[in-house]
Amino acid sequence: MPLMSFSATLTTAPIAAAERTAILADPGFGRFFTDHMATGEWSSEQGWHDLRVRPLEPFAMHPGAGVLHYGQEIFEGLKAYRHADGSIHLFRPDRNAARFARSAKRLAMPELPPELFLAGVEALVRADAEWVPPHGDEASLYLRPIQFASETFLGVRPSARATFCVVGSPSGAYFPGGVTGIKLWVTTKYTRAAEGGTGDIKCGGNYAGSLLAQTEAREQGCDQVMYTSGPAENRVLEEAGTMNLMLVTADGQLLTPGLGTILEGVTRASVLEIAAEHGLTAVEREIPLSELLDGLRSGHVTEVFASGTAAVITPITGLAGDGFDFVVGAGVPGPKATALREHLLGIQTGDLPDTRGWVRRVC
Ligand SMILES: *Cc1c(COP(=O)(O)O)cnc(C)c1O
Repeated sequence: MPLMSFSATLTTAPIAAAERTAILADPGFGRFFTDHMATGEWSSEQGWHDLRVRPLEPFAMHPGAGVLHYGQEIFEGLKAYRHADGSIHLFRPDRNAARFARSAKRLAMPELPPELFLAGVEALVRADAEWVPPHGDEASLYLRPIQFASETFLGVRPSARATFCVVGSPSGAYFPGGVTGIKLWVTTKYTRAAEGGTGDIKCGGNYAGSLLAQTEAREQGCDQVMYTSGPAENRVLEEAGTMNLMLVTADGQLLTPGLGTILEGVTRASVLEIAAEHGLTAVEREIPLSELLDGLRSGHVTEVFASGTAAVITPITGLAGDGFDFVVGAGVPGPKATALREHLLGIQTGDLPDTRGWVRRVC
């Protein structure tokens, strides 16, 4: 393969420094975008080409583009943190790159070589380095790579063209007022994945199908939905829609559903790897819902939390469903969830040593 990289054409009309500073002081999540985008094209004749960083602008898309009809679209999510010395780092981006390629393959799209994924993300971060919030406050630049079918053609077959794009959106602390717990609604009405389906990849369609379940959770007075799978008499835990699920038991186990139909989170893998340092034995296996409910009743399950890039770790302090409504533990974030969160965040922000080579310096 010829050596390829992203060329950069910087904008001549960036958002004014004063406005950017005001945005970075309170970015929230997903509300603002940086000045640039990284894009690349693929065609069956040319392969990957036209890799560039350029001023952020809307796509011009033919109404016949494949993604608009058949949902051939995948995405990723990762964060760039500014360390105390001003340098900018990504957290295990090689895992996002590999997962992006796996997602593409499952949707019969071309696999972007991981080194090009990383090159695109890093080229955007370098162009928009001033958009990475100052060190501290858990703020970061959230990066959102996507890839979609861009061939103009009606007919159910893999697209002969695909577009890759990365945009950046500054992101504030997920829990600005201090970490609080959320309450999950265990839906028995909706599922997110089935064996052989697309539950284990990051595609937009999975999320389209989850929105109504999320609405149901809200109507039940909960914050987010929790999915199970299997027959009614033997439901097993899946995950929390956008985050993986973990349980802490009184005898020091960290339990999480094994891979299969769930999304293989980078945060999940990282929590499992540091668990032993927190006196926990990590166990990946099938977890019946009845085991969780019994454990909450008896006190054997002491903590429940969810893991994902956006919030790192989110304590689950309440769990409700058809015929049950539990307060988890003391109803406040548990000690293990809190310690694991601080540990991972410390590595990401550079405040704790990176003994595993997880952070990757961009600039
Ligand atoms: C992205 C995602 C996660 C979390 O993955 P991370 O790599 O930790 O951010 C969990 N579940 C689903 C369904 C997801 O899409």
